[in-house]
Formats: sequence, structure tokens, C-alpha cells
Amino acid sequence: MAVEPLIYELGKSGRRAVKFPKPTVPETPLPEKLRREALNWPEVSEIDVIRHYTRLSQKNHAIDINMYPLGSCTMKYNPKINEAVARYPGFARLHPYQPESTVQGALELMFDLQEMLAEISGFDAVTLQPAAGAHGELTGCLIMRAYHAERGDTGRTKMIIPDSAHGTNPATARMAGFQVVTLPSDDRGNADVDKLRALVGPDTAGLMITNPNTLGLWDEHIAEVVEIVHGAGGLVYNDGANFNAILGIARPGDLDIDIMHYNLHKTFSTPHGGGGPGSGPVGVRKELAKYLPTPRVRKITEGDDVRYEWFRPEATIGRLHSFNGNFGMHVRAYCYIRMHGAEGLRQISEDAVLNANYLMTQLRDRYEMPYDRTCMHEFVASGNLQKQQHGVKTLDIAKRLLDFGVHPPTTYFPLIVPEALMIEPTETESKESLDYFIDAMRQIADEAETTPELVTSAPHTTETKRLDEVGANRNLNLRWQPEAAPEREKEAVAAD
Ligand SMILES: *Cc1c(COP(=O)(O)O)cnc(C)c1O
Repeated sequence: MAVEPLIYELGKSGRRAVKFPKPTVPETPLPEKLRREALNWPEVSEIDVIRHYTRLSQKNHAIDINMYPLGSCTMKYNPKINEAVARYPGFARLHPYQPESTVQGALELMFDLQEMLAEISGFDAVTLQPAAGAHGELTGCLIMRAYHAERGDTGRTKMIIPDSAHGTNPATARMAGFQVVTLPSDDRGNADVDKLRALVGPDTAGLMITNPNTLGLWDEHIAEVVEIVHGAGGLVYNDGANFNAILGIARPGDLDIDIMHYNLHKTFSTPHGGGGPGSGPVGVRKELAKYLPTPRVRKITEGDDVRYEWFRPEATIGRLHSFNGNFGMHVRAYCYIRMHGAEGLRQISEDAVLNANYLMTQLRDRYEMPYDRTCMHEFVASGNLQKQQHGVKTLDIAKRLLDFGVHPPTTYFPLIVPEALMIEPTETESKESLDYFIDAMRQIADEAETTPELVTSAPHTTETKRLDEVGANRNLNLRWQPEAAPEREKEAVAAD
């Protein structure tokens, strides 16, 4: 394009969005230290600002624009009512240092959310404090450590993790001081129980398992897996990021699992993906409740009098987050759960599983399905055929999907599937959106055969084309600078 759109250099000296009236109080200058003469703010009118941010928002893909089948991330639609409720001043304007007596409504909401999450998952106690799934994993690992330490069982240094696990699991276990032992999957995509039997022993702290796993499969031997680990004196952690598949159908607590995190920003529709912040509450069975992070909320009933208060669990592992976690996310998840009710939650999972199976059956004649059995809320296809026969890689397929206005699936994960395409449609897509995705994927399979260079050179319609991802990683630069920065701005930067 010859004429570049106006993007950044919008400022003109003297332009204003707001005109403030003259102050009616004496002016007090800021202390010298806080003043930055060289601060080179752009001077813009209101419409410039609105257009700037609207334009920026359109450069990225979002669930509010089109389908976002990013496997493992559960990029479902986030109902706008969650946002409306989270913005109620009675929630949004609270300060975490306010006395308990003035925030009883917020405490009641947190207490009820703890109870609802416990009920949905079959656990006895829940903390809302962790800020993400991985943070929940850390909480769980620290609880395992505290549990063994309190029993004087200090030789338990190893955490067993299936090779289909999310990358955060081994990273977290390591951060919590455990050695990671990898458990291979069997050819149906389950944790290999014979190998597990050989791995467990007096040095086993526990096992972290994602179920349904990252192949989108329910582990057919989960009861046996739990029994083997418990038999060796270890604890079982369930990575609950895939909870969207089993709401109202199966409860990990009923399977004797000890600890699990929930991703409110996946299953319970609080925004994520650039939109955060996240929230990763953790549920535990009764014996482990005393280790949960402090503080937790409890309900005190005296006659007709009900009140809520903070308390410190007896053997707490301490604080995992400032204040009480990301409260705004608790409000959104609470709203979502109350809006759906028990039957609605079950319907969510049934629809999520149905949608994923529909896509899988409609694509299996064009794409390899390395684990071709009924899937849960997601499935893993492979671009192996396209790569072997036409030199079109999974990365190319993913990039080509962008031209259809669809966010690509997760690629090259899980690691045990070559050229993996991990697809999770979620329950919020209509039959028409699913069919659109199927048509796009089938057309790309056709193109790989007839015009492979169309796919290998994609995307063709997006704002930016192929990015230098390695370069971006190695030379991380998060600070935008105007190209023709005035001298004083450069000096200010140099002085930083
Ligand atoms: C997303 C995810 C995580 C990590 O959750 P974050 O909230 O991103 O930290 C862990 N395990 C699985 C299977 C996931 O999909």
C-alpha cells in the first residue's frame, strides 16, 4: 500500500481531548522529583485516542471476532453479564484493607464460590487465592511438600508426570523442589499403568495428571493410577485445566484425587489471552485443608446471625498472592456458575464434548488422527500427511487458517504427536461456526494437494505476515519508541 495508515504519530502540539476548567484552589506544584520535563506525551484529540485503540484492538484476533479453537485453552465466549456484574461499584470499588464488617457481600460471594467449586469437583475445601493454573499447581505441590514434611516423610523427592502433561506441570514441580520423573503414555493415550507401578516407591511425593489429558482423552485407568500412587504413599494432583469436559458428569474428588486446580479463565468464562488476569483456585480433600494458603473465608452462624470472616488455616503454606487473589475474576465466575446452575453446567460439558467429536469425525478423512477414539472436549489431529506428501507443515496450516478469520488451533503440542493440531471448539460455537471451520480445514487440505505454495506462504490477509518468533524471543523489546523521537525524549530514555 502506498499510503500508510496513521497509526502512531498522531500527536500535534496543542490538541486536547479534555479541557479542564481553571482550578478554584491554589495550585501546588508537584515535588521536583516527581516531575519529568522530558515526558513526551502525544497531544491528541478524543477521536484520535478512540480510533487508535479501536484500531489496535482489531489487529489481534479475539473470541468476540471469530472462533478461537485453541486446544487446552478453552477459549469459550465470555458472557458480557459477567463484566457488568464485576463492574458493580459494590464489588469494583472495594479496598482489600477494608474491615470485614464492611465487605460482607464480597466475602459471602467468595465463600459461596469456594463452596460451589468444591461441590462441582467433589473436594472438601477450596482456596481462591492462586492467580493462574500454574500458580494453582505450585500451591498443590507446596501442599504435598507440607503434607509429607509434617509426617516426617522427607525422602519423597520425586514427582511423576505423564508425557502428555502440560509443560507447566514439570516446570512447577521443579520450582517446588521436586525431581520430575516422566511417565510414558500407552498406545491408547492413557498413562501407562505397568510403567507407573515400576516407577513408584518410597521416594514418590506424588503424581500430577491432567485428566482428561492433553490428547483430549479420558484416562481409562484413572482409578488404578490413583490407587497405585496412594499405595506407594504419594498424593495425586489433577491438573483441572480440562474441567470443561466433565462438569456435572464426573468429580475428581470422587475418584479419590487429593488436589486439583480450576482455571476460572478457561472453564468458568473469565477472560484470558491478553485479557487476564487469571484465577486458579485449588480444591483439596479434607485432610489437606489445613495446608491451604491464608487467608480463607468462612461462614459463622450464630442463631439467626450469619457473618463471614477471614481465617488462617492451621498449617497453612502461607500466602500465594497479595490480598485475596483476583477478586474480579471470582465475581465473574460466580456469576457464570449461578447463571447456568447445575443442569446448565452439565449441558456445557455435553455440548463441548459433542462439538469436539463432531469436528473430529468431519476431519478424520483428511487429517491423521493419531488417537482415533471418542474424544472429550478437544482432540489432537496431525498435519503429518500434508507434510510427508506435500511439504505443507502444521505451521503452514495454522497460518493459512488466519486467512479464514479463524484463530489457529494449538500447534506442536502435545509433544508426543508429530505435527500436532490440538483443536478445542468449546460449547459456545454454533453448528454454523463449526461447519465453517470444517470447510476451512478441508479446503486447506485440498490446497495442500493442489496449490501448496498458497498454504506455505500464508497468511495473506492479516495485518502482519509471518513473524520472526525466535528473534522476538531472543531480542525481547517491549518498549515502543517513536521513530523520530525528539532529542529531549532520547535524553530522557538515556537517563533512565
Ligand atoms: C492452561 C493450562 C495450564 C496452565 O494454566 P495457566 O492458567 O495458563 O497457568 C495447565 N495445564 C493445562 C492442561 C492447561 O491447559
